[in-house]
Amino acid sequence: MHTQITDGLRLPIGLASSVVKRYPTTLTDAPKRYAQIMRGAVVGGSGAVNGGYFCRALPTDVDGWAVDGWSWAEVLPHFKAIENDLDFDNPLHGSDGPITVRRVAEFDGCTAAFVESVQAAGFGWIADLNGSTPDRPLPPGVGAVPLNIDGGTRVGPGGAFLAPALHRSNLTLLPDTRVRRILIADGRAGGLECVGPDGATVLTADRIVLSAGAIGSAHLLMLSGIGPAQALRSLGVPVEADLPVGVGTVDHPEWVLPVNWPPTHGVPPLESVLTTDDGLEIRPYTAGFGAMTSGPRHDPSDQPHLGVTLMRPRSRGRVALASADPDVDPVIEHRYDSETDDVALLRSGAELAHEIAGSTVQSEASWATSQHLCGTARMGGDGDTGAVVDTRCRVFGIDGLWVVDGSILPAIPSRGPHATIVMAGHRAAEFVTAG
Ligand SMILES: Cc1cc2nc3c(=O)[nH]c(=O)nc-3n(C[C@H](O)[C@H](O)[C@H](O)COP(=O)(O)OP(=O)(O)OC[C@H]3O[C@@H](n4cnc5c(N)ncnc54)[C@H](O)[C@@H]3O)c2cc1C
Repeated sequence: MHTQITDGLRLPIGLASSVVKRYPTTLTDAPKRYAQIMRGAVVGGSGAVNGGYFCRALPTDVDGWAVDGWSWAEVLPHFKAIENDLDFDNPLHGSDGPITVRRVAEFDGCTAAFVESVQAAGFGWIADLNGSTPDRPLPPGVGAVPLNIDGGTRVGPGGAFLAPALHRSNLTLLPDTRVRRILIADGRAGGLECVGPDGATVLTADRIVLSAGAIGSAHLLMLSGIGPAQALRSLGVPVEADLPVGVGTVDHPEWVLPVNWPPTHGVPPLESVLTTDDGLEIRPYTAGFGAMTSGPRHDPSDQPHLGVTLMRPRSRGRVALASADPDVDPVIEHRYDSETDDVALLRSGAELAHEIAGSTVQSEASWATSQHLCGTARMGGDGDTGAVVDTRCRVFGIDGLWVVDGSILPAIPSRGPHATIVMAGHRAAEFVTAG
């Protein structure tokens, strides 16, 4: 397991993976396109299995949340605190955080072909994709992806933050233990119903911080009676708090186009991206899906591909309870085709990708997901009827319960969400300590 989660040159998500959990989802409704969304099922969650792209949300994203205590000026110190950026030593970057960040300096294979072609099409080079400020927003252009991969090793949040703290006397990690429900009495969360290697068990606590991810936390909240009241009642779940859990969720829609650029083996899955001013990100994945997940296979049909991704989608999906039984997965619907403007923008992105890749494109684009689902228990102020947690990450109407993970993001960042979620964990630690 250690090898799978530290090898930053592979995505350990192939069919034989022992470190992910798969959930069925519907990407589009007309026609129905079915897919799987995955989550890392190990300590560190998806950050232990992901592509290593560690790009901060933009200042406009964070300031657009308009959430008290979460302005760009207030979150920047936390972005800096989590990282050790080996490429940039300036006031925007941290140098002593536990997550090593670096960019690939020289490209070859398909990344080199992509960067050359994009620059020939007139796009400029962005030296630091994490270098945006409110006064100097980044222009559209191509740049090297900040990666939390150092010398081929993925530096995920479990290894970076939790592993070094394991010796502490006030910390116990219970491996292979699954929470089935939060126990709530008189409006206060006081315990967890779990199942572990020794069977069922109940843990009690005066504070509970859920970090089970956008799917796991939403599922647990709803199983415990926190969610849309009518839907919970219809499944026989007693309602503790009527809140919009799983409503209006968001993920980055992606179209993929196989290209016959030469695959590059022994490098991270994604080394460079192009961002456009209308919110598209074009990604040259360095190898075919099979090679990325299980190593070079020299299968001619396993080609590198370009991802065309909508980074500020209008579409909203949902995560809903299917059963009061914790062993039944929730219903997940992405509803990517519910906004015609989104589909039109993806189409124009695919045209741009065709221009960039020319005759190397092998087939029409197909629908996929970036696996970036967020916002299932949104954070917001007191009057925000769409919010599930307050600006200090406390669940509205329930004492002693926080949610700190990708569920709480008020809007999906215009970048992959991982760096922003780790930042949010660092920021929220202050709030949980304060009580
Ligand atoms: C294959 C893949 C590639 C990705 N690539 C990138 C990338 O390169 N860059 C990027 O920015 N983003 C990427 N993402 C998305 C990013 O990794 C996630 O958004 C982020 O890691 C989510 O973190 P989280 O802590 O919110 O939740 P999760 O990753 O969902 O972690 C939740 C944790 O809680 C545990 N858990 C859940 N339910 C329970 C329960 N009932 N009891 C006990 N434990 C439970 C899970 O096992 C897991 O360890 C990728 C995601 C995937 C799946």
